[in-house]
Amino acid sequence: MILNAFNLEGKVALITGCNTGLGQGMALGLAQAGCDIIGVNRSGPDDTQAQVEALGRRFYSIDADLTDTGCVTRVVEEAVQAFGRLDILVNNAGIIRRADAIEFSEQDWDDVMNINSKTVFFLSQAVARQFIHQGQGGKIINIASMLSFQGGIRVPSYTASKSAVMGLTRLMANEWAKHNINVNAIAPGYMATNNTEQLRSDEERNQEILGRIPAGRWGKPDDMSGPVVFLASSAADYVNGYTLAVDGGWLAR
Ligand code: NAP
Repeated sequence: MILNAFNLEGKVALITGCNTGLGQGMALGLAQAGCDIIGVNRSGPDDTQAQVEALGRRFYSIDADLTDTGCVTRVVEEAVQAFGRLDILVNNAGIIRRADAIEFSEQDWDDVMNINSKTVFFLSQAVARQFIHQGQGGKIINIASMLSFQGGIRVPSYTASKSAVMGLTRLMANEWAKHNINVNAIAPGYMATNNTEQLRSDEERNQEILGRIPAGRWGKPDDMSGPVVFLASSAADYVNGYTLAVDGGWLAR
């Protein structure tokens, strides 16, 4: 039956940055679909752990600052030690820095590129090695952005990093499909989280953005649940290298 293909019972999902925002929404969606969750956070899991456990799933917390790829090997080793295997990786943790391009600093370039692109690649590489070792394939889901498709304004390193995420998603899919590894991305539209607090509190920008979203509202963390469960499940086995917009229709305008 088709609905069984969406069932993730017994799968282990590692999610970066799941203490809040979209990461928390996806952790809860995956847990509802049956996953045990390994949360990788720099500041503890907050209430995500309690919410996952209330759904009857296990949650294991790993502390790591993903600005630096030095933690990647330890994160994967600790995850495998905790729950014995890995089936799904969601590369969600990310940051944004806003300043006019004409005066954008090298620090704001490096900080954003390191976590949003470099760590995404090297954590994916380490998890893909584990998937290959296990011999049963796996699913990698990267979090892209509207700025994987568009230029944006005042966010040069964010645009560069999220454009890189869409390209790397394709590259990793091309190389690892032969190991039954699917690598896809979700490009969220304008979602109400800490990441967009500055935009939402600027009434003029808020109205400009809302006026362009066909759905007429900002997205919510739980708008990510269905898409992430689909891409993590065997229902999406023949979907590979694709970036799925979850944007209330923004890109259709
Ligand atoms: P958020 O609420 O700011 O959450 C970002 C998450 O990343 C938090 O858990 C944060 O942890 C974690 N993180 C940041 N730097 C980290 C580091 N160095 N090491 C480990 N974890 C780190 O933002 P969000 O909107 O949910 O963003 C989640 C993802 O979606 C990001 O990749 C973002 O670029 C992307 N996205 C968001 C939107 C949107 O409209 N909100 C649109 C497109 C794409 P702390 O709480 O410890 O900082």
